[in-house]
Amino acid sequence: MAGGVKWIIANWKSNKTISEALAWIDFVGPKLSKRENLKVVVCPPFTDIEEVKKAVLVGNYPILVGAQDLSPFDDGPYTGEESARILSELVDLVILGHSERRQNFGETDQAVAEKVVQAKQFNINPLVCVQTENPPLPEGVKLVAYEPVFAVGTGNPDTPDNAGSVASAIKGKYTGDITVLYGGSVTQENAKAFLQQENLSGLLVGKASLDPGEFVKIVEIAYG
Ligand code: PEP
Repeated sequence: MAGGVKWIIANWKSNKTISEALAWIDFVGPKLSKRENLKVVVCPPFTDIEEVKKAVLVGNYPILVGAQDLSPFDDGPYTGEESARILSELVDLVILGHSERRQNFGETDQAVAEKVVQAKQFNINPLVCVQTENPPLPEGVKLVAYEPVFAVGTGNPDTPDNAGSVASAIKGKYTGDITVLYGGSVTQENAKAFLQQENLSGLLVGKASLDPGEFVKIVEIAYG
């Protein structure tokens, strides 16, 4: 694993009611310990974010809260959108360019770039998902998740070696300090092998993050 800060990020996708989200926080929060070099982030659906944030603050848990998307526009007449300014009181990070948004909602590289501008303007850290080793990366992006489409939600992860090589290629292509995570069918069984890769700095976890027990195990693996 690369030195420096590591990330374990839960992407709940379109899952969990508010009460289910709070039960997850009640289970996971007390089991985590604060570590200088590990950031644990949960990205719930929009409707859960405020309650999750409150529960994290009340419990004083070492969990950051993120969003799964945000608007490419400023505040204004954009029905159904959540602007970066609105979200900025609640979240520290946003997942952008996820392959499910590209496939199901027609998200383009241009839209991702516009969302990155919005996120940065309101101090939300953009985590940009890329699907290849040669992706277009909007300026100023520092946090990237390599998520090959064949591995997302399929139970068919990439090999840790290949994910490490892709991370190395991405870091080689862009100047500046780019942090690369891996995502795609991560489980408690395979997390360690990905985390051992020199060029990977953590994991973006979808399905396995829904089960609080499994998510805690993945975080414990990252503790080392
Ligand atoms: C994801 O949501 O980014 C993801 C990688 O999903 P899963 O872990 O379910 O493949």
